[in-house]
Amino acid sequence: MTSPERKIGIIGYPAQHSLSPIFQQAALDTLNIDIKYEIWETHPDDLESVVASLRAPNIEGANVTKPFKEKIVPFLDSLDLSAQQIGAVNTIVKSDGMLIGHNTDGIGFLEALGDILFTPQKKNILIIGAGGASRSIAFALAHENPSQIIIANRDKDRAVNLAQSLIATTPTTVVPIEFTTATLQEWIPKSDLIINATSIGMRPAEDLSPVPSMLIRKNIFVYDLVYNPIETVLVKSARCRGAVAAGGLSMLVYQGAHAFTLWTGMIAPRDLMMRTATAHIERPPSIG
Ligand code: NAP
Repeated sequence: MTSPERKIGIIGYPAQHSLSPIFQQAALDTLNIDIKYEIWETHPDDLESVVASLRAPNIEGANVTKPFKEKIVPFLDSLDLSAQQIGAVNTIVKSDGMLIGHNTDGIGFLEALGDILFTPQKKNILIIGAGGASRSIAFALAHENPSQIIIANRDKDRAVNLAQSLIATTPTTVVPIEFTTATLQEWIPKSDLIINATSIGMRPAEDLSPVPSMLIRKNIFVYDLVYNPIETVLVKSARCRGAVAAGGLSMLVYQGAHAFTLWTGMIAPRDLMMRTATAHIERPPSIG
């Protein structure tokens, strides 16, 4: 009798347009690892049963995306340190039959900052957004000894909540503010790095930017978590103003590379993953 096909998948809702299956399958195939990476779109009512199905012996692990990164925690057997601190999971690894939750978003983000040669130590960092992605990167940055982290959010209460959890668990100075043009005018001149952790600028509303370009100066760093389009209006305008800027595809691929290593124990082929993801975003739209 042949054993069932080994599988990894992404759990989300919706999940059909996720890029992870594209670049993870390319990485598995190139290293001749006989695992199929699938899309496990999961209605919120079915989350518990889908997690239970991961206990089947042929399932190696999973990625977790919106809206389940926090909701999935109670159904797992344990969490690694970063997932515990953030309170959210983006990767599940099967170890001795146990489902262990990890969070590789923070390390992926720090590596992406490394690509643009930004070092967070003693820097003032402005994060726009206070949702799930903001939370992961804020915790990662808080461990890098920045001078201060400013969190600007449309709903200020959410920024205050995130600031409180950061202050409770890390020694960082955190300033929560409302996201308005006036607060940007006040805080951008004092910032070394601006991060967009909102969905502003994402396709199909790719003409928008969270930051008026005139507020961006030479020598500031800009990282936009949005990766579709690859070059957002924010990234383009920042570069035009002489800033160093990057879009979110590097973070997406690097968090995926860490997940790949957790599942397979192998070094992920990052260049291939990046090339595959880039080609997929840039492909012409299909007709019909
Ligand atoms: P989320 O939890 O839903 O949070 C969304 C955030 O965007 C909130 O802070 C929300 O503010 C803000 N926002 C949305 N529309 C806005 C608008 N029109 N004006 C002002 N603020 C607005 O989503 P998330 O998971 O954090 O994702 C945020 C972005 O990061 C998305 O674009 C996602 O694709 C990207 N992301 C990228 C990576 C990567 O690897 N590159 C990983 C994860 C996420 P309120 O709280 O006021 O609603």
